[in-house]
Amino acid sequence: MPDNILCLENLQVHFAIHGALFDRALGRPNAAVRAVDGVDLTIGRGETVALVGESGSGKTTVGRVITKLVQATGGKLLFDGEDMTSVRGSSALRSYRHRVQMIFQDAYQALNPRHTVFDIVAEPLRSLRLVEDNRELSERVSEALSAAGLNPPDEYAERFPHELSGGQRQRVVIAGALAVKPDLIVADEPVSMLDVSIRAQILQVLVDLRQQQNMALLFITHDLPVAWLIADRIAVLYLGRVVEIGSADEITFNPKHPYTVALRNATPQIGANANRGELPDLQGEVPSAARVPTGCRFHPRCPLAFSRCRKEEPPAIDVGPQHMSACWLAE
Ligand code: SF4
Repeated sequence: MPDNILCLENLQVHFAIHGALFDRALGRPNAAVRAVDGVDLTIGRGETVALVGESGSGKTTVGRVITKLVQATGGKLLFDGEDMTSVRGSSALRSYRHRVQMIFQDAYQALNPRHTVFDIVAEPLRSLRLVEDNRELSERVSEALSAAGLNPPDEYAERFPHELSGGQRQRVVIAGALAVKPDLIVADEPVSMLDVSIRAQILQVLVDLRQQQNMALLFITHDLPVAWLIADRIAVLYLGRVVEIGSADEITFNPKHPYTVALRNATPQIGANANRGELPDLQGEVPSAARVPTGCRFHPRCPLAFSRCRKEEPPAIDVGPQHMSACWLAE
């Protein structure tokens, strides 16, 4: 669709597990970890979509495929209408990397401890050859630091990462992503390692930037209230597949899929006031992606499961305007 900056169609990332000698001797095929297993997702220009799920749901892998850090093994990745699924090589990816940036969870790991803040933010501008001279480079770095809330920029430019607080380090990472003026930023749990007071400030920076620069944002998080605060739409991922997607309000306050209801009920800020219905709290953990259950992949943890759930995987079913749930109960 012309107004979508990103479109994922049946995206898959399967990692082969090399079988034991015994399996190979018997000619059994190698098993696979199905980290991402048929994700369909679109992001409009200037839109913020949150990808929500527990550890092991595959949300980080989706982000890494979009930023071309991991290669998809199936499906399609369309960016601005162009099929980028199989594009590899640094020269072919230069323009793509200019337009799609990633913010990592651990700012300290993401920053080179031997480089100053100026060099860290200037690095993508230099490597992608986006500036003509040093004057333009300085201007773009100052602009990015200022937009990320590091003011005055000159006060931070010559510091090293160890001289900054956790929140300031995350602002430097954001400035590095912003410096190239991307169309899409993938932010992987960007506030989960920060204190609560700093989290709110960093989220505000992202909200402001999105409004000022009309930049699309894929916000990856395990935290439903944070997703609701920042996103236009929320997609809930379970064991490598989107099980529910809709507006942030609908998913947070009117979830339809039993997994989303359980996530909502487990969240004190919104679960305490919610109509909890008959559904008990979520039990156990996401099963291994090497052993995806047959039928509905949520059925081993679903208190509402019935016989059909164990045999047939439900498709995405419309449950409201722009709201879909992959659950047989929605039929
Ligand atoms: Fe539960 Fe069945 Fe719905 Fe899956 S399809 S979420 S097992 S009720």
